[in-house]
Amino acid sequence: MNTLVTVLYIVAFGMFIYGLMGLTGPKTAVRGNQIAAVGMGIALVATLLVPGMSNWVLIVIGIVIGTLLGVPSARQVKMTAMPQMVALFNGVGGGAVALIAWVEFRNDPGYSTHPGYFIVASLFSVIVGSVSFWGSLVAFGKLQEIIPGKPIGLGRAQVVLNGLLLIVAIVLAVVVGMGGTSELLIVGILVIAAILGLTVVLPIGGADMPVVISLLNAFTGLSAAAAGLALGNTAMIVAGMIVGASGSILTDQMAKAMNRSIPSIIAGGFGGSGTAVGGGDDGDRTVKSTSAADAAIQMAYADLVVVVPGYGMAVAQAQHAVKEMAKLLEAKGVEVRYAIHPVAGRMPGHMNVLLAEADVPYDQLKEMDDINGDFVRTDVALVIGANDVTNPAARNDPSSPIHGMPILNVDEAKHVIVLKRSMNSGFAGIDNPLFYDDKTSMLFGDAKKSVSEVTEELKVL
Ligand code: NDP
Repeated sequence: MNTLVTVLYIVAFGMFIYGLMGLTGPKTAVRGNQIAAVGMGIALVATLLVPGMSNWVLIVIGIVIGTLLGVPSARQVKMTAMPQMVALFNGVGGGAVALIAWVEFRNDPGYSTHPGYFIVASLFSVIVGSVSFWGSLVAFGKLQEIIPGKPIGLGRAQVVLNGLLLIVAIVLAVVVGMGGTSELLIVGILVIAAILGLTVVLPIGGADMPVVISLLNAFTGLSAAAAGLALGNTAMIVAGMIVGASGSILTDQMAKAMNRSIPSIIAGGFGGSGTAVGGGDDGDRTVKSTSAADAAIQMAYADLVVVVPGYGMAVAQAQHAVKEMAKLLEAKGVEVRYAIHPVAGRMPGHMNVLLAEADVPYDQLKEMDDINGDFVRTDVALVIGANDVTNPAARNDPSSPIHGMPILNVDEAKHVIVLKRSMNSGFAGIDNPLFYDDKTSMLFGDAKKSVSEVTEELKVL
């Protein structure tokens, strides 16, 4: 039976890696996901075949509850709610790992009868798994807008508090490592790590959330790999390390894209001060409105139009309408490109996925570094539900909470048309001076409706 389990595990690992390779491009992503999911199914069956497996009733109850909760929620979730769903599922993984380590503690009780590597790996799983669970719940709350996106914390004192919590968790872990068997110790570690998860993520502002989400993802993977090491389960080690390694690489890439260091993000204080404005005017600053007809004329006579999609395009599900509008512009001899910011939307690759779904040719999608130099010769930058990723304050205003974050240089285009419903802020909760720029016109309304109206106007031009 052991040989069969090993063979099944190897097949599953191959499928995880092959599936992950598929996720590198939108055309192969769905298939990649399916292959990895089948691999996980095989790993699950193999684990159930491990000799000595018992408690079948509990296992079946667990599978039934998980399936009843997971399948309908994954099927019914709207595309726009996908990021928070991913945050929640990630957190559940971390929580499960922390619970496994707790169960192992209760079995003996304590870890003292086990070798050193088991003790270290289990304590790592308890702390990091619990941080990941509670931190992911906060990330879910912020993305779902149950919790405000702006930083909630104690400012500089937060770093001290978080440091103290970490020290207390480590001291309790050392006591357990030295043979402590009281259940209060392990519960204490779980609770302190839970508070740490909350106090690390709550002060992180909206604009920094992409980095935090991928960091929590890496935490869950690493804690699962550590639990696998303690339990001697190769499937958990491999799957955990794949998640941990890819999550760590993504965290690094996201932090670079935001021009931030990971320690400074964890220390808090970046990404939103809640100074958004809600009206059409802000003090003596006014914004210019435009109509679909004027926007259509402006673009029809342009040489180059750069579409800048953001989260609002996802909310409005405007991608198909955008593709249709672009086709009409191209038929009139206008060159159309799409400028993709690495954190536009609410999950990595969000804009790429939406535009690929609408069959926008991949070579028209330009990464931020590749398109930023083109804005000076762009006749019209059409901003569709993007806000933070176009905010020039990130470049020009050292007092801005997002100062230093690279943005799309939309303000360098000759004309800017912004499609959004109101003057509300983006996820970072801050004002955007681009909207008050002389060359910017606002086309207020739902993005899909506005794009469709522009398309109708283009048809009669
Ligand atoms: P923003 O959140 O900055 O702005 C989106 C804008 O879309 C809002 O200002 C909103 O204005 C508008 N909008 C919403 N619904 C509609 C609609 N139906 N029609 C038209 N407009 C609409 O989005 P960006 O993409 O510019 O920036 C992403 C932000 O999210 C960054 O701060 C990023 O750090 C953060 N983030 C990104 C993650 C990622 O992995 N990509 C993960 C977590 C956070 P109005 O209400 O007036 O219409």
